[in-house]
Amino acid sequence: MDFTLPKKYQLFRQMVRDFAEQEVRPRAKQVDIVGKPDMEIVRLLGENGLLGIPFPQEYGGSGLGELGYCLLMETMGGVCTSTTTTLGAHIGIGAMAIYLGGSERQKRKYLPDLATGKKIACFALTEAGAGSDAGAIKTRAIRDGDKYVITGAKVYITNGPIADVFSVMAVTDPNLGVRGGVTAFIVEKGTPGLSVSKEEHKMGIRGSATSEIVFDEVVVPSANVLGPVGAGFVNFMATLDTGRLGLGAAGLGCAEAALDLMGRYAAGRSQFGRPIGEKQSIQWLVANTAVEIEALRSLVYRTAWMVDTHQPYTKEAAMCKLYGSEVASRAIDRALQVHGALGYDRDFPIERMWRDARIAEIFEGTNEIQRIVIAGQVLRPYGVRVSP
Ligand SMILES: Cc1cc2nc3c(=O)[nH]c(=O)nc-3n(C[C@H](O)[C@H](O)[C@H](O)COP(=O)(O)OP(=O)(O)OC[C@H]3O[C@@H](n4cnc5c(N)ncnc54)[C@H](O)[C@@H]3O)c2cc1C
Repeated sequence: MDFTLPKKYQLFRQMVRDFAEQEVRPRAKQVDIVGKPDMEIVRLLGENGLLGIPFPQEYGGSGLGELGYCLLMETMGGVCTSTTTTLGAHIGIGAMAIYLGGSERQKRKYLPDLATGKKIACFALTEAGAGSDAGAIKTRAIRDGDKYVITGAKVYITNGPIADVFSVMAVTDPNLGVRGGVTAFIVEKGTPGLSVSKEEHKMGIRGSATSEIVFDEVVVPSANVLGPVGAGFVNFMATLDTGRLGLGAAGLGCAEAALDLMGRYAAGRSQFGRPIGEKQSIQWLVANTAVEIEALRSLVYRTAWMVDTHQPYTKEAAMCKLYGSEVASRAIDRALQVHGALGYDRDFPIERMWRDARIAEIFEGTNEIQRIVIAGQVLRPYGVRVSP
């Protein structure tokens, strides 16, 4: 067993680090203050080939698979969670739904533009009455000859206001339920009846765009059905697996950044005549964070390897999301404590990181739902049925 990151990935990580330091970190505070994505960063991400990392080169991607995607999310996660969220919604779920469920024609039509940032994707599943219970969606797609007419509304959709390509889940047959009655669609910006309504006013990741999306008799051709009719729920759940792995990687980056901030401050700040890092109370915060980071890194990299070697990984992806979000929240909370008043001061990045980290315990399935997914997989061999 060799845990060394292959040379190609080491070089890639260094390239992403350089990009993040030069282009993303200097604007991280500003995107939070302005409260919307910096489209110049998004453009540069596309120009530098960073928006198609997991996809094969034949679809305009970099062919670096999930490991490459996780390294991207880890590195960005330590620099700007807003930008990481924009990336995650675009690559990890919006475009990924097309890559995993799309026909050859759809992949060739949409992925090259998404991989270069010419177009931005979003993933529209959640509705006002269907959050954790994603199968309760009410958005309807009614067949009309070789077209479908979509009517309904989605809420809290990341990238909604900046998206050109919407991966959308709608009910095609209410009698069949989630297995058979729900279908995924690709809807393009500018289609009559599609509108982005209320933008959400968020506590954190304020530099990512989140909105409601309304479908008022939106007509899409049958060619825009994503995957087989009736298989939308399966497609979207598989897509969320990769999204959750990416969130675990982003949490890893956030926790690493928090530990680095703790170390620097513990060394430089003196009270009672000695650096605070010499106090056991601070050392324990550092030690606990370091252990959790190592455990999380192993979990994330191993899960990425499972994806890239075509093994089932639903349980591990849920673990990455659950553990990654909690490790990140704990780490940044500890870093805040180590910094005392400076941790609470808006002139320093920690309070932003603290607000930003919290969302990962909620979106792409709350951590309660992740525990249900994990318990279901662990208890299945024992004959125990786990249901939400
Ligand atoms: C900033 C942001 C961005 C988002 N981006 C997207 C996006 O791009 N695309 C998209 O489709 N959605 C997106 N979402 C929606 C997100 O995925 C949902 O908010 C999330 O799945 C939870 O749904 P809910 O908010 O309706 O909470 P609810 O489902 O109402 O849950 C409320 C509470 O009850 C708990 N709960 C619910 N059911 C159970 C159960 N069976 N057992 C135990 N506890 C339970 C939950 O864990 C939670 O604590 C986003 C949300 C936010 C806030």
